[in-house]
Amino acid sequence: MLPGPEDHRVSEAGLLELSIGELAAKLARREAASEEVTRLALARIEATDGRLGAFLRVTPERALEEARASDRRRSRGEARGPLDGVPLALKDILLTEGVETTAGSRILRGFIPPYDAAVAERLRAAGAVTLGKLNMDEFAMGSSTENSAYRPCRNPHDLGRTPGGSSGGSAAAVAARQAFGSLGTDTGGSIRQPAGFCGVVGVKPTYGRVSRYGVIAFASSLDQVGPMARTVGDAALLLGAIAGHDPRDMTSSERPVPDYREGIESGVAGLRVGVPREWFQGGADAGVEGRVREALATFERLGARLVEVELPHAKYGIAAYYLVATAEASSNLARYDGVRFGLRAEGKGLREMYGHTRDQGFGPEPKRRIMLGTYALSAGYYDAYYLRAQKVRTLVRRDFDRAFESCDLVAGPVSPTVAFPLGEKISDPLQMYLADVYTIGCNLAALPGLSVPAGMHAGLPVGLQLIGRAFDESTLLRAARALEREVGPAPAPRAIG
Ligand code: GLN
Repeated sequence: MLPGPEDHRVSEAGLLELSIGELAAKLARREAASEEVTRLALARIEATDGRLGAFLRVTPERALEEARASDRRRSRGEARGPLDGVPLALKDILLTEGVETTAGSRILRGFIPPYDAAVAERLRAAGAVTLGKLNMDEFAMGSSTENSAYRPCRNPHDLGRTPGGSSGGSAAAVAARQAFGSLGTDTGGSIRQPAGFCGVVGVKPTYGRVSRYGVIAFASSLDQVGPMARTVGDAALLLGAIAGHDPRDMTSSERPVPDYREGIESGVAGLRVGVPREWFQGGADAGVEGRVREALATFERLGARLVEVELPHAKYGIAAYYLVATAEASSNLARYDGVRFGLRAEGKGLREMYGHTRDQGFGPEPKRRIMLGTYALSAGYYDAYYLRAQKVRTLVRRDFDRAFESCDLVAGPVSPTVAFPLGEKISDPLQMYLADVYTIGCNLAALPGLSVPAGMHAGLPVGLQLIGRAFDESTLLRAARALEREVGPAPAPRAIG
């Protein structure tokens, strides 16, 4: 009997449920075409994004062109690997040639980059299809997407709640089956926290592992690009595609890139998992701590050894981060003056034009940070604030160095709570900053970290955070995969149908 329309719908919906690995296998066997899958993803975005708000810009013509090019390559036997023809999406902080890129800010409205970010270039070279640009907090400043100059993104598990931030759109789109994977950036937690809140896997690579060329700068000594995906294997695949040396980024590492999927199934037996004492002193909600402790128990049952470690300077991390990050941001954002990029406001003379452009173009959070950062860097205060923060940064890094003498990775919560309601923290910036308590140390110490689903609490995903030695993403992925085998990926979100 021929399949009826009903069966057709089931199989269509089924395609969007696949992991990248599964989709790649179907594409390779010619059981599906990239154009077909791309059309489904675009239709899904069309049907759901009015409510979700994950995208700032969808580029359907471009996506379909790329998909057809991929299908043609495939029919000639010239497919470029597992990402060829796979629909992905990019955080709007990554430059895309010919496609408006705003970093979630009004000041960059209408800015069309003349070149691609290195990571966009690499994904293109791998044959991936780009669906569009994803919503985010303005200049990646925030933890909820409520600082987006355009609209907040919502959590696909509960539309009244935040998807996290700043890469909230990147996490929500992947969780909501609009895209098979995405890229975000993480300066103080912006990949791991939204991954945790939306129930996807998010990897913040070691500083220097992924090129920052063409990434709109927030805090240059902390920023890294990383993947978000529904499975650990997919995240490993995406990381492998974007990692590697780039002479155009002088902080880019020349270390060879391993195959991150190799050894990913080999489990955690014999691994020493560090449990920071400071992270389990009642700072996290009971429901979050419960899932995290269960994950630790799972590791132990699978043959890992839990080791208590200390991160005595962790408590100064937020203060140090919000000085270093605002200082660097105040310098990086100086270039938006109405002359070269995006918005230009009217004014009598150059100075007034600068002033009006920056006043109208920046939202409250970048303004707050420009003022804080400029203050911290000003003569007379530099030693008291910026220099001190740099010293604390060294101490935070030494804490991790010491911890890694007795363990192979550190494990704990990503965030103190599950996804919080939109509106809850937006009027109190300090409360918003404090929610970054567990993620910031990893950036200050330039280490790799990830978030992997560790179960649900009150109907919302809980993320487990793993932090590793510099350039040891492989161990993190292996441990995350071991947990994923036990608890499974987060359930498909129900709030958007
Ligand atoms: N929430 C943090 C901040 O607002 C981290 C942001 C990020 O990682 N980009 O700075």
